[in-house]
Amino acid sequence: MDMKKYYDPFLEKSPQGALFRARTPHAIITAYKSGKVLFQGANPNSEIIKWTNQNEESIEKITTSKNMALDRVLTNAHIGSDESGTGDYFGPVTAAAVYVTKAQIAELKELGIQDSKMIKDDVILKLSKKIVEMKIPYSLLVLNNEKYNQLQSSGWSQGKMKAMLHHHVINNVIEKTKGNGYEGIVIDQFCLPHVYKRYLASENESVHLKTHFMTKAEHHSIAVATASVIARASFLKEMDELSELSGYKLLKGASKKVDQLIAEIIRNKGLDYLEKIAKLHFVNTEKAEKFL
Ligand code: MG
Repeated sequence: MDMKKYYDPFLEKSPQGALFRARTPHAIITAYKSGKVLFQGANPNSEIIKWTNQNEESIEKITTSKNMALDRVLTNAHIGSDESGTGDYFGPVTAAAVYVTKAQIAELKELGIQDSKMIKDDVILKLSKKIVEMKIPYSLLVLNNEKYNQLQSSGWSQGKMKAMLHHHVINNVIEKTKGNGYEGIVIDQFCLPHVYKRYLASENESVHLKTHFMTKAEHHSIAVATASVIARASFLKEMDELSELSGYKLLKGASKKVDQLIAEIIRNKGLDYLEKIAKLHFVNTEKAEKFL
């Protein structure tokens, strides 16, 4: 069923970057070009159930119990995970999971840990050092470009790569902190939970008990914010190394300047070289060819 057609009577002006926005009596639905759909408002479940295969009763149960449980999770020992580099043409995808105790929540806030997107690069590196000094248990994985491109051409979406990275770092942290106990796991949500579950199921894995998916989780969970700093710091270091290795100051993001740099690299080193330093399937590769 075409979602936009379905909500036709409720469409309103769509925000920047969105395919459409609809306002029903109970919910606001925003669909993005990335394929993400955001359900908000008084009763978003009334709409979510139309697009997932769960029935209303189970969704209602999940949401209400989650909201209460979630507050408890965020203020007690918990695990959080986040990733970095997924929007950057050059460089790997990094993911981290972090375990924080109740006492560390205050300490980390004191340190100035917050959403890594709000912190300057040099501060990110300093903060990540301090996190390591505090001996906060964490796990970090780096999906390098060669492996990324292999997985991508074998049919993995970036979403699936992210899901598996999150799953593995969370596994590692659970293993490291065995016996310490935690109130729950918070994943910075990048796809609908049932899609995440499907990705894991396709690799014979399943979501851990007490897992909560939360959009903008780094604003609510200090574990996720800490994970975002560790993942970003690792991405920055990897970018420095790749820059040194390639002899180019590799740019972050996926802007037009990136396209020009890609063209220069293709001219001097050939298209194949990008395999080692870039996410080839991004449209930037094609765009760069126009500069050649
Ligand atoms: Mg995130």
